[in-house]
Amino acid sequence: MIKIPADRYGNTGWAVKARKAFRCEIYPSRDIQPGEYYYRAMAWPGSDVNPDKGFMVMRICRDCLNDEHRMQFDVAVNSATQRI
Ligand SMILES: [Zn+2]
Repeated sequence: MIKIPADRYGNTGWAVKARKAFRCEIYPSRDIQPGEYYYRAMAWPGSDVNPDKGFMVMRICRDCLNDEHRMQFDVAVNSATQRI
């Protein structure tokens, strides 16, 4: 799991390697395949995307990230995979 720096909206999360297939929670037509890195977003309670009380976690595929976020995601994943 690789921590991604928060973007200008304060969204934060991790790049995580999928151990099994997941459905992307932004566009469910796009599956996250095993072995692929996906973005695990953390939404704080009471924020725009998460009006509920609990902490919310979303699994988002790389394609659904905005440009700024995708760039940070790629940098994090590349540096992690090159270390191995
Ligand atoms: Zn997606």
